[in-house]
Amino acid sequence: MGKDLENFKQRLSLLDYLQQQNWVARPAGHGHEFVGLCPLHQEIRPSFYVNARKNLFYCHGCGQGGDLLRFVQLSRHLSFRQSLAYLEQQSAPPTDPADVLEQVATFYQQQLDRYPEALCYLKQRGLHDPALIRELRIGYAPGGSLRRHLTAQGYSFDLLQRLGLLNSKGHDAFYQRVVFPCCRGGRIVNLYGRSIGVAFAHRFLPGSKGGLYTWEQVQYCPEVILVEGLFDYAVLWQAGFRHVTCSLGTHLNACQLQQLCDRPRTIYLTFDVDANGSGQQASQQLAHRLQAQGIATRHVLLPDGQDPNSFFVQGGDAQQFRSLLEAAQP
Ligand SMILES: [Zn+2]
Repeated sequence: MGKDLENFKQRLSLLDYLQQQNWVARPAGHGHEFVGLCPLHQEIRPSFYVNARKNLFYCHGCGQGGDLLRFVQLSRHLSFRQSLAYLEQQSAPPTDPADVLEQVATFYQQQLDRYPEALCYLKQRGLHDPALIRELRIGYAPGGSLRRHLTAQGYSFDLLQRLGLLNSKGHDAFYQRVVFPCCRGGRIVNLYGRSIGVAFAHRFLPGSKGGLYTWEQVQYCPEVILVEGLFDYAVLWQAGFRHVTCSLGTHLNACQLQQLCDRPRTIYLTFDVDANGSGQQASQQLAHRLQAQGIATRHVLLPDGQDPNSFFVQGGDAQQFRSLLEAAQP
């Protein structure tokens, strides 16, 4: 420990740390000495000296002195151990959020089989093919165990909270939700969670939902079916339609529009047919925007009050859906 601590302290520059905390200094005589106002007590004439080579400070006003660890203890009112932990965290290399999300997705995937209620929910939504569930990496957040799992792997509570994975109490933000990872270029950029009860709304992590779902698999298809929800996507995939993608809502972001318009193709718009007509309206607006970019569009008309998911759940089959595609009007 003693030797590790010395190495650790040598890696961190006291002067750099102070300057990050906005300490203003001027050289004092020799090359390695700097002086400025003391951050540890109130003063108007600078009496706080730092020797950059020795990595030490001394204040002639309040008489405090020592190394960086001592400075952190005094300035942040922390114990020796707490100061050490604080500095270790400060100097840790930044974590890539995609790496954390990869761990989370794997963990939730492993949970799915252990909770019959989650599998039962998937079945109710028409998802029964284990190959589909594996391929889409669908998981389940039972709640309560993600924090323990990830902090044991060295991720800080603070980071997990910042990413929106845990709430302020440390509970899973995706509590009792089925979870779909959303990828871009093979990296997970967000998670979509759908509550298996009725009490909670569906949710994403803060930040962008990314591009179109599994766009890489369909980007060269001359005809693409566009649906708004992941359960719509999943049942179509299961029924053998592989030229399908999902916008995760009826409002497309700039990245998603750009993807649809990057080459000539025909888009089969398959949004929900809801009673208030909002799906139809969104579908019309999107069609105009795509046509303006030279993209052909067809409106797939589902039976009243249905979306692709309910169409299949209520007994519709691939042949019937194919007929709807053939009947789709520009
Ligand atoms: Zn002082």
